[in-house]
Amino acid sequence: MATNDYESVLKMLEEITTNARQIQEQLLGEILRKNAETEYLQGFLHGQTDKQLFKKNVPIVTYDHIKPYIDRIANGKASSDILLVEPLIGFSLSSGTSGGQPKLIPITAESANVTEALDLPETLLLKATPPFGYWHRNSSEELLQRQSPKTNHFGLSIYRHFGDLSQVGKRMELLYAKPDVETPSGLKASAVTTRAFKESSFQAILPKLYTSPYETIFCPDTKQSTYCQLLFGLIQRDEVAVIGSIFAATVLRGIKFIENNWRELCSNIKTGKISDWITDSGCRKAASLILKPNPKLADLLEDICSCKSWEGIVRKLWPKTKYIGTVCTGAMLQFTAELEFYCGGLPLVSGFYACSEGAIAINMEPLSKPSDVSYTILPNTVYYEFLPIKEDCVTDSQNQVQLNTSRHKDTETVDLVNVKPGQCYEILVTSPTGLYRYRVGDIIKVTGFHNNTPQFQFVGRQNVALGVDMERTSEADILKAVAEAKALLDPLGLILTEYTSYGDTSSTPGHYVIFWEIKPKEGNNNNNDGKELDPKVMEECCSKMEDSLHFTYRMYRKENIIAALEIRVVKQGAFEALLEYFVSNGASLSQYKTPICIKTKEALNILDSRVIAKFFSPRTPIQDN
Ligand code: AMP
Repeated sequence: MATNDYESVLKMLEEITTNARQIQEQLLGEILRKNAETEYLQGFLHGQTDKQLFKKNVPIVTYDHIKPYIDRIANGKASSDILLVEPLIGFSLSSGTSGGQPKLIPITAESANVTEALDLPETLLLKATPPFGYWHRNSSEELLQRQSPKTNHFGLSIYRHFGDLSQVGKRMELLYAKPDVETPSGLKASAVTTRAFKESSFQAILPKLYTSPYETIFCPDTKQSTYCQLLFGLIQRDEVAVIGSIFAATVLRGIKFIENNWRELCSNIKTGKISDWITDSGCRKAASLILKPNPKLADLLEDICSCKSWEGIVRKLWPKTKYIGTVCTGAMLQFTAELEFYCGGLPLVSGFYACSEGAIAINMEPLSKPSDVSYTILPNTVYYEFLPIKEDCVTDSQNQVQLNTSRHKDTETVDLVNVKPGQCYEILVTSPTGLYRYRVGDIIKVTGFHNNTPQFQFVGRQNVALGVDMERTSEADILKAVAEAKALLDPLGLILTEYTSYGDTSSTPGHYVIFWEIKPKEGNNNNNDGKELDPKVMEECCSKMEDSLHFTYRMYRKENIIAALEIRVVKQGAFEALLEYFVSNGASLSQYKTPICIKTKEALNILDSRVIAKFFSPRTPIQDN
């Protein structure tokens, strides 16, 4: 990419952030004009396209509200024009809701372009321009021409910092495609990233810009895929300029994978032969093209890996790396301390904020610390509204914004250009893909403006209690799982008196810990020491909980992205001690409720110091309910 192209992209970003109000108005106008006659909007707008009427009559909805429409389309019972006029080319499969199956989000040919670049954080910056966005179709050249060209002050853009990386080297990114799901209508549902990997434009740049061959990205066995992607990344170590994956948890898993498997990786490099357990034909084919005996490299890597401390190992393994490109904000912030340890001072760059519903924002200050990252909204992809959150968010010891409460101030929404710095909001989108006043489920805190476009810090998901990777588990999910499992105690004459949960990411992969306080149904209330607990039953309780957790949890367990769920049985009185702790810290006794999820070290220590027995789920959860 020539400097001029970068300059024009940056100029374009400057223009769209300056003209945010007009762009948003045009975008909504066009969505309504096109789709006012759809069955969905007709019910609220009766064919009209007025913005005020839209806000008055069209309800704010969650996925559950539009699911019946999506299901009718996906099941072939209705044409997609019940929701949107533009023809669908398929659905995006989101990574999962807090309660159930992944969401199906309609995709049109145009919106597919928008999400195409999600796996390429810094090229997202480039693609945020026409024809990437919606803006160019709206004859906005005219608007652009009216703008006096400004010198951009995006300051620390990736390009400015690191130069043109395609000239400097390759990306060693752990990328995984998921098989498409065919809906009864014949329309395919696929993860946004998988669709991007299938794009011919991606495949064309893959060999030049990435160390992972196509076959390894599409290998259905995650372990074989990871092994091969790391192997090929190590072989091409001198060419690697960026290490990454979409989310920080995956990068960390990759480093730990090398920590556990480096001897075997080195032996493959030494002999030029891939291990027999790599049975995937695509991976073996790729290996046959790339892997040649290289004892010198194997010895060097062995030397590096056998050192005592793995601090800064990434720099040693890939000496030309400029940065780690991966989302480190939100749920991923918990992984950054460990990642920093392994990366030895390499910048952690969170390039974008995006979801299956749309490409929402980019990070224009790539060198910000993960806890300080503010994303700048792209005003040209979807129409935004913001629902103010009643109480402000607070900042915790990691400088991560935490949500005190998710109650909304009222149902009046605020337009993009009218949000207030310091205020937390829930994001609503109206998109050209048939989403109208749709709650994405994320909370953000506005930190300022770039021109007329807000910048924000990602706060978190609505209603999420636990998450050790990208999955989100709500309080309701935990409640349901515990209710199923505790029934197994009944025949033993035991009752579960109190419980709480904790997302343990102290080891990788992380796992769910459920603290249980148990007492006999009748008679003695004495402290038990856990000896009378039948391990078989307790393990079954762990598995039962896993079986009743949501689809994404069970899938992640199967793929070893999450480790086995653990029950820690605590002494009687442990939860009383927890209550005393919270009350001594200012909680009102009359309003005290045992938290469903423990978030602080202190509270965790109170329970951990009273653990009398630990049990783990012995099997992966049932996949098909
Ligand atoms: P999906 O719909 O499966 O693509 O997941 C998108 C979700 O991932 C968003 O709604 C956010 O909750 C989360 N997410 C995406 N980008 C970021 C980011 N930069 N920081 C924190 N969370 C993110």
